Amino acid sequence: MKLAQGITVITNGRLVDGHGNTPVDDAVVQLQDGLITYAGPSLEAPQASPDARSIDAQGGTIMPGLVEAHFHPTYFNVAILEDLDIKYPVEYVTLLAAANCRLALECGYTAARSGGSLFNIDVWLKKAIEDDLVTGPRLAASGREICGVGGLMDWNPEFRKIGMEGLILLVNGAEQARAAVRQLVKDGVEWVKTYPTGDAAAPDTNDHHTLCMTFEEMEAVVSTAHNHSMKVTGHCRATEGIRNALLAGYDTIEHGTFMNQETLDLLLQRDIPVIPALYFEKASVEKGPEWGLSQRVIDGHQETLEGGAESARLILKHGGRLGMGGDYGFAWNPHGDYARELSFFVDYVGFTSLETITCATRTGAEIMGIGDQVGTLEVGKIADILVVDGDVVADISLLEHQDRLLAVLQGGIIKAGQLTMNETFAVQ
Ligand SMILES: [Zn+2]
Repeated sequence: MKLAQGITVITNGRLVDGHGNTPVDDAVVQLQDGLITYAGPSLEAPQASPDARSIDAQGGTIMPGLVEAHFHPTYFNVAILEDLDIKYPVEYVTLLAAANCRLALECGYTAARSGGSLFNIDVWLKKAIEDDLVTGPRLAASGREICGVGGLMDWNPEFRKIGMEGLILLVNGAEQARAAVRQLVKDGVEWVKTYPTGDAAAPDTNDHHTLCMTFEEMEAVVSTAHNHSMKVTGHCRATEGIRNALLAGYDTIEHGTFMNQETLDLLLQRDIPVIPALYFEKASVEKGPEWGLSQRVIDGHQETLEGGAESARLILKHGGRLGMGGDYGFAWNPHGDYARELSFFVDYVGFTSLETITCATRTGAEIMGIGDQVGTLEVGKIADILVVDGDVVADISLLEHQDRLLAVLQGGIIKAGQLTMNETFAVQ
């Protein structure tokens, strides 16, 4: 991905650094060739050269670009299971996924970690974004996901005579789990996404208290993936599934819904980040009836919502790490609404704005393994920056509105935001 050339100075804004430090009023951020050279109070800022480009934050907020840590680029208004795997051919899903990536960037998400993708679309999207062929967040790719036979993601019944080839590698036993990971190695996957547990969405056979992989299968996934320098994550609702994932050596936990003392202790000892992706549960409860979800499914989502919120509060309270991501791409939780997750964590779960922003920036970058390059505003880092109209710390819901984003910079280049309407700032 190209970096900007020359010097840019962002002035007249409140600096939120991504570390959770007290915001700095009347701050300046200076960039040279796409890297941050100064971030701090204007009084202490070095003199900028007269030919520097300038961006006026208009008294608003200057903060790191957001990281969507549980992103499904190939999901598109999924209302029924078939929408996930067999509704469209791969060609069309690829175009939809590219559009979702562009939208995510326009929403202020300068980086995203895939939480699973149809075929290898995210692997190739990552390349297209890095090669500046399409715009989108810096991606970490997951490719196809792994689930035990008969588990949450094995929904096509035998009579259909189709498997889950496009989305899921189904495994029976440790040997097949190893083989599935080996298949992903050569496809360019960085994160192996697995399904240790079920979900409230599948109440009859694979609800949120059901296990969908054995410990042996999970251990085989981890040892094979780690051998090839890949990381492993998993959809973990049930307590036993969280425990298995932590003991097997998972690198992150998706959802981490029903934590108990033992799993919390294990999580903290190993400093494993959790990505709750929790607003989806509230959206499912509130909008489920109009989409025909059964009462049992809605009740399950309510239980998940409450359990997940309590677990997130516990993890934060004890100094654990949380990433913000949201499973966006369902009919009742569409792409473009990513920042709802942040408002939800403030309004419903009870985090402060600064805590939530740190989760959505610094921790997101750490999860992706690029915490040394992006995620905070400090000297030497790549200038992935948002300039927002208004005080985000006072009202985090500003981030939900694209028209409040003055500039979305990636590598110092303004890729989206209101200022791109101005010719001076057109993408260079
Ligand atoms: Zn997901």
